[in-house]
Amino acid sequence: MALPKHRIGKTRKAKRRTHQKATMPNVVECPQCKGPMLSHQACKGCGYYSGRTAIAIKTA
Ligand SMILES: [Zn+2]
Repeated sequence: MALPKHRIGKTRKAKRRTHQKATMPNVVECPQCKGPMLSHQACKGCGYYSGRTAIAIKTA
C-alpha cells in the first residue's frame, strides 16, 4: 500500500482542518407551543407544522 513520503506537520494539518466545523441547527420558535423547534420540520413538542398537527406526539 502506498505510504506518504513525508509527515504532515501539525500546523499544516490544523490549517487544512480550519474548514471542518460543526454548524448550529436552525432553531426557531414554534407558533403553536412557543417552544424551540427545527425550521422546516414538524415540532417535536406538539407535532404542529404548516398550520395543522402533522404528527401525533405520544404523551406518557
Ligand atoms: Zn410546538
